[in-house]
Amino acid sequence: MDDLSWLTAQQIKGNLRRLIPVERNPGGLLSLSGKKASPLLDFSSNDYLALSTHHEVISSSRRYLELAGSGAGAARLMSGNLAMYDKLEKKVAELKGQESALLFGSGYMANCGVIPALVGRGDVIFTDRLNHASIYDGCLLSRAKLVRFHHNDMNHLEEQLGKHRGHGKALIIVESLYSMDGDRCPLRDVVQLKEKYQCLLMVDEAHATGVFGKNGGGIIEEEGVADKVDIAMGTFGKALGSYGAYIAASEKRVQYLINRARTFIYSTGLPPSVIGASLAGIKITQEQPQLRRELHEKVALFKAALQQAGVTDTGPSQIIPILIGESAKAVDLAEKLREMGIFATAVRPPTVPDGTARLRFSITRHLSDEALEQTAASLVSALGM
Ligand SMILES: *Cc1c(COP(=O)(O)O)cnc(C)c1O
Repeated sequence: MDDLSWLTAQQIKGNLRRLIPVERNPGGLLSLSGKKASPLLDFSSNDYLALSTHHEVISSSRRYLELAGSGAGAARLMSGNLAMYDKLEKKVAELKGQESALLFGSGYMANCGVIPALVGRGDVIFTDRLNHASIYDGCLLSRAKLVRFHHNDMNHLEEQLGKHRGHGKALIIVESLYSMDGDRCPLRDVVQLKEKYQCLLMVDEAHATGVFGKNGGGIIEEEGVADKVDIAMGTFGKALGSYGAYIAASEKRVQYLINRARTFIYSTGLPPSVIGASLAGIKITQEQPQLRRELHEKVALFKAALQQAGVTDTGPSQIIPILIGESAKAVDLAEKLREMGIFATAVRPPTVPDGTARLRFSITRHLSDEALEQTAASLVSALGM
């Protein structure tokens, strides 16, 4: 199939994606540029704690920019190793309950760099089927054997470990909070299996860091398993309101990754303004647990309104998927909601498995309680309930 007929086929299936330019306004409002329509409530942002517009994050970012300029100028193993990275890595290690940490340009780069550094030909990776695309790409780059287990299914994971563990290195990769389903990984069970079968365990906490855990250290903190996790990965671009990513691990493992992770070695260090924002994001996350409480209260309010109307399957987190099925139907519903002033993403294949297209609502502190109640009512009416 040539590129053009591929595009046409996607369009017919309702899977064609387009970029929509937007502008953000206070109150979680989103204006679609060029359109006169009134702004929409944004239910697709991962800026859960609303830190991207927090005055301390902005002023810290500005301070670092003025202190050190707009770019790092080189990769860190060359002359680009600004002292501020070390400061941020110490903070990350503390937040994630690990000895040490290493920054990456983005979460995508972290996963694509770390996984191939840890395992290779002759080794095996056990990966949850719903793991993020960046994890898949990292696995493919590693050339290790890839064994997928059914989503959150520990019996299936154990069965696969029994069959495929082999004698090389073995790595289990999970997300602690799944980005499209909003459900949590049974981490303690995974830890037991990792120990029984002597595997490394990598946990992607992109959506959990800042949102869960007493200090915002994620679900590995909340579940008390941080010391059993070999590689804790996460991003600054979601609840922490900044950009970039990290892995936290033992000091030895970090030393190893500095020498082996190609997306670290061959890429320019993060800009000072971004480091300034990330430092403030972590500080606020640790020192202001009330922001997390506020978020969870908003989530509870939205879910209660849905449950009253009979939408019961709302899951355990700030990410709330409403399963629709057919892509075209999900797209129609998203369009209908847009007419009602609500921006929620229709998540379609290949991001999720065929036949499981859904509307994804993510709740942020930008949204007022009134907006949440109003949206729940609109959704219920759009679903025809
Ligand atoms: C967003 C996300 C990433 C990628 O992080 P970026 O910093 O946006 O590149 C990786 N893993 C998961 C689970 C994510 O949700």
